[in-house]
Amino acid sequence: MHIIDILDQHQTTFSFEFFPPKTTKASEELFQTISQLQELQPSFVSVTYGAGGTTRDRTHELIVRIQNETNLTAVSHLTSVCHTRDELRAILDRYAVSGIENILALRGDPPRDQSGYDRSNDAFQYAEELVRFIASHPNPPNPRGFGIGVAGFPEGHPCTPNRLHELDYLKRKVDGGAQYICTQLFFDNRDFFDFRERCEMAGISVPIIAGIMPITSRQGMVRMADLALGARFPARLIRAIERCAPDYTNEQVSKVGIHWATEQCRDLLDAHVRGIHFYTLNKSDATRQIYQNLGVKDSIALRSSVT
Ligand code: FAD
Repeated sequence: MHIIDILDQHQTTFSFEFFPPKTTKASEELFQTISQLQELQPSFVSVTYGAGGTTRDRTHELIVRIQNETNLTAVSHLTSVCHTRDELRAILDRYAVSGIENILALRGDPPRDQSGYDRSNDAFQYAEELVRFIASHPNPPNPRGFGIGVAGFPEGHPCTPNRLHELDYLKRKVDGGAQYICTQLFFDNRDFFDFRERCEMAGISVPIIAGIMPITSRQGMVRMADLALGARFPARLIRAIERCAPDYTNEQVSKVGIHWATEQCRDLLDAHVRGIHFYTLNKSDATRQIYQNLGVKDSIALRSSVT
């Protein structure tokens, strides 16, 4: 089933994101996490795609395992960086054979250890071209081809110098065949609401799913800022985290982070968000806690409680 069909059937979707672990032991632990989160009956789960090498194969392995061993709908992220057209074609063929129906199409970023990386050898310069490529690629088990999602950036993408143009580029991805947008994480809902409004003004009418990441440790928050995701941390959030001084134990910080994320979700639900996508960092506790705080047992109950 395509994600757009799931979005059409539900007022709000709830989904979880995982990344492929580096070791077999970590893979097994992640599978435990996924099994635990399965109880929450997410609308779909997605698996990120690394910048190169073995991690890319691990995305394929994990996504196929989810498809074969759980009843979850799996979305594979795919980036065009460091890939030729032939390689991308082969990946899509493999997904078609394995029954994977949904792709989140991204440009991706060059590997961190290759500072002077030359993009001119990549099959595509922008995600828009990958979207069109996937849209034209046959997926024999499904005559409608692959379901396609793309990334959106409520606070703006760090590389975009001209903020007036960024929505034009996003619209090109939608015009090329993207059926929904999943956003980068954000901590201030005003950024999301403003983004949603700007999309509307730009004539983008596909569903927009909000990316939520609960802060569960101070180191995690610092790492997030370091990774240049561009995330803005509101003063109220920083003040709340700073009250966990001097120890900043993970227990204290995650209480603050989970409370913050819960309030974000509540506000988004009140504002009829089309979907909430949890960046789980391969752990189930925070997501489970947010569900509990929202007062529901599973996402089906949550979906039907939204009016
Ligand atoms: P694009 O849409 O191509 O945009 C990249 C930049 O180019 C933007 O600044 C945009 O405004 C600009 N631009 C676009 N089109 C044009 C044009 N025609 N002319 C001039 N400028 C243009 N990364 C991974 O490596 N693996 C993942 O699994 C992954 N998953 C992600 C999931 C989500 C939900 C999000 C939000 C991001 C994810 N990323 C992932 C990060 C993403 O790959 C990077 O942020 C990347 O730098 C941009 O990808 P994009 O698909 O948005 O690119």
